[in-house]
Amino acid sequence: MNNAEIIKKMKLGDILVKYGLISQEQLETALEAQKEFKTRLGRTLVQLGYVTEDDINWALSNQLDISYVHLTINMVDLTVARSVPREVLEFYQMIPIAKIGNELTLVMADPTDNQAIETVKNTTRAEISVSLSSSSNILSLIRQVFKEESSHEFQHSDMEGIKSGDYKKEIKRLVTRDFDSGIFVYTVVFRAFEANASEIHLEPAEDLLKVRYKIDGIYYEYFSKPMSLYPSIMSQLEAIIKAGNTSGDTGGTFSIKVMDQAIRVKVHFAPTIYGQSVVLILIPFIKDPVKLSDMKIDERVTLELARAMKKNSGLIIVSSPGKSDITRTLYSMLREVSFSDKKVVTLEDFVTFRREGFIQMEYSSIGAGDDYEVLKMATGQNPDILMLNLDLSQESVRMVFNVALTGKLILLALPFQNVYTCFCYLTSLGIEPFSIAGVLQGIFSQRLSRALCFNCKQSVTVADFPFLADQLSHNVCYEKGKGCAECNFSGYLGQTLLYEYYLPSREDRMKILTSEGTDIFVPSNYKTIKERCREKVLDGILPVSEIINI
Ligand SMILES: [Zn+2]
Repeated sequence: MNNAEIIKKMKLGDILVKYGLISQEQLETALEAQKEFKTRLGRTLVQLGYVTEDDINWALSNQLDISYVHLTINMVDLTVARSVPREVLEFYQMIPIAKIGNELTLVMADPTDNQAIETVKNTTRAEISVSLSSSSNILSLIRQVFKEESSHEFQHSDMEGIKSGDYKKEIKRLVTRDFDSGIFVYTVVFRAFEANASEIHLEPAEDLLKVRYKIDGIYYEYFSKPMSLYPSIMSQLEAIIKAGNTSGDTGGTFSIKVMDQAIRVKVHFAPTIYGQSVVLILIPFIKDPVKLSDMKIDERVTLELARAMKKNSGLIIVSSPGKSDITRTLYSMLREVSFSDKKVVTLEDFVTFRREGFIQMEYSSIGAGDDYEVLKMATGQNPDILMLNLDLSQESVRMVFNVALTGKLILLALPFQNVYTCFCYLTSLGIEPFSIAGVLQGIFSQRLSRALCFNCKQSVTVADFPFLADQLSHNVCYEKGKGCAECNFSGYLGQTLLYEYYLPSREDRMKILTSEGTDIFVPSNYKTIKERCREKVLDGILPVSEIINI
């Protein structure tokens, strides 16, 4: 049955008002916001917090009497699904799943979106029958459908239009229009967020703009776009940054909401011979940091960290390359503090978690002063505990040591990959040995590694990794699998925390006091990240290749 005609007369907003889920005023606000941000109405309403996706689905399936479906990839005809470009499908949050005769079944998050239906109708010349599903289900299917397809096909269709004819022309027009509307930036950030990437790199070259994601310190080339689209991508980015009012000479920041999660995106530009090279750093807001005891670190380290947090003075360093996920750890540690009898001040680049009772300062939004001056302001608040999570100049780090000597407990985030590197950095700053020996409570270093998908990981033997033979005692270990529905065809599922904690012993402090240079420090009294990594490889949690990476 072709139900698209019946649905055509209804509007999502009116249905929601009719069911009392939103007010007329809320609808108007959403329609204004929708125009400005070029998002779909349903998504806009959810982002504004007026309704949930479930509310929308309930109202739609009730009012329109259409089936609400939850699909798996096996129910999708891949050829049919791929007949419309991914960007268009993601933009409208829809996916064609089957075609019988001339009737195309289109699953949509908003079945009242006539523009979307018309688009598919005009480009496929088919009759459309509509079903309803959640946008998360649809977006996950789109990702799976296009995962397997070579990105080269797209490059060609973008550049040459492959076949002549109305269909391809229409698609090309649509893609170009969607590019102009800001959807490219949104899509790129959305996919990065879904892939757990911390950074997006847009790298222009002679013919192609490469889009690479950095996930756990490793670069993955996600796709490329013809350079002909580059100017429009850049103007989108500039417009988005300008709207965020944070434009600077070398970049800026903007906020974006993806799947109900707010993300701050920090943008850096650098001129290259082919145009501006762009790095987008994703800073997700934290929902609720876990307790220290729930951090999946071993009991002894948990206890030592908790004890360090109870001190009245000193310096605890938390370090991670690129500072990935370090904020969560810092706030987990701060949960050990009862702020009713202590004053806690935090100074961060971005505040991604708001904690009642804390005095929280955000460096990126403080208009004036360099980091040294802002640090002075923070210490001027006379905190008992000061948490610092921003890039500090060497001069500022030296000041941190002086402040720690004066009876304050400081939590300092550093971007280094292990305890040893942190220690070398500190000694390279020319900080007096007595100062380091006196204030250093401990260094916690961490990184997140992507765990193998338990469902599709493949067995390998030491023979497959001859250069690691001396490191692997077992004969069977694991490597990334082909990918399956369980892991969204990535071969990875979830993350595992690798960490090390160094607590200077009395002997170590004596050594620090009496020796010169970095040779005073021998990392022998703690389990290193490398050792933990090797254990997890042998347990089949991490791929063998991680031994080389870490
Ligand atoms: Zn899998």
